[in-house]
Amino acid sequence: MSNHPENPVPFPYKYDQTQLESEAVSTGDLPEASIIEKMMQKTYDMYADLTSGEVARYIPRLADADPRWFGLTLASTTGSAFSSGDSRQEFSIQSISKAFVYALVCDTRGHDEVRERIGVNNTGLPFNSVIAIELNAGHTMNPMVNAGALATTSLVPGASWDDKWDFIHRGLSSFAGRDLLLDDEVYTSEMETNLRNLSIGRLLQSYGHITVDPECVTELYTRQCSLRVSTEDLAIMGATLANGGVHPVTGAQVVSAAASRDALSVMATTGMYEASGDWLFEIGMPGKSGVAGGIVTIAPGKGSLATFSPPLDSAGNSVRGIHATRHLSRKLGLNLFSSTARL
Ligand code: GLN
Repeated sequence: MSNHPENPVPFPYKYDQTQLESEAVSTGDLPEASIIEKMMQKTYDMYADLTSGEVARYIPRLADADPRWFGLTLASTTGSAFSSGDSRQEFSIQSISKAFVYALVCDTRGHDEVRERIGVNNTGLPFNSVIAIELNAGHTMNPMVNAGALATTSLVPGASWDDKWDFIHRGLSSFAGRDLLLDDEVYTSEMETNLRNLSIGRLLQSYGHITVDPECVTELYTRQCSLRVSTEDLAIMGATLANGGVHPVTGAQVVSAAASRDALSVMATTGMYEASGDWLFEIGMPGKSGVAGGIVTIAPGKGSLATFSPPLDSAGNSVRGIHATRHLSRKLGLNLFSSTARL
């Protein structure tokens, strides 16, 4: 049973950094450009006609998405990008924002505080679960489900709500290397139907996990979810996390290498909600999905693959996105857990 209120983290996790002289990082290269180009097109062709999955409807505006949209982009840490299909089609970032806001908050609050306050373990339950909070003695569990994401957004620095929004908007835009725009229609549509997130915010306030106004936090979180991105944006955002927090094209240090590493760890264990184990087993990389149909997957040191296709499976993950990412992970040698024998 995962409910240990008096000891939510069952092992001594504080680490004495002074014992470490230098840290090894993931290495290895992507295949050469011509191979990636061919594989991106081939993968698009393989899955473009797949029709399974349902477009999200609980945010009314999302139901207007075209189920045929399908875009793929792979961005490398050296600044190259390879795309196929609707890679310029914009869509709302939704839950994928959680990973990047988490990295920004880790950067300002640090590894230990964020771990203690938000948690890193999977709930095994859907992204907007209330039961998960109750089952775990009020703990948010992790930053990739709504409870933890709301608590993470509540930790964003800023004297006013405008300052906090500015921090998030500027931070996510720096990850993308361009000014990201808000999708007003998606934002308004979710705000009009946001009772569940508001309730989660209030519940977290009752447990003392949100100490600022939960309605303002929910509004801010909904706004961060409504920023528009394409797979070209998402892939470069992911490539920044794959590159120690440095944007491969602009050269900006968006977050520290430690914050990037921490965000990737929680994406690996929890980024695909209750399907995170399946995802890691099949794909072998940190990933984060959103209900508009985006998925970003990171190969540390190498780059990032972004997919967009609105039809989702029952956990809220894009069906074509899962298929395409799995195929490319295998074809491009991206799985972090695969190795060959040293000869
Ligand atoms: N804004 C959405 C929500 O909170 C994001 C959910 C998601 O992408 N899974 O419900």
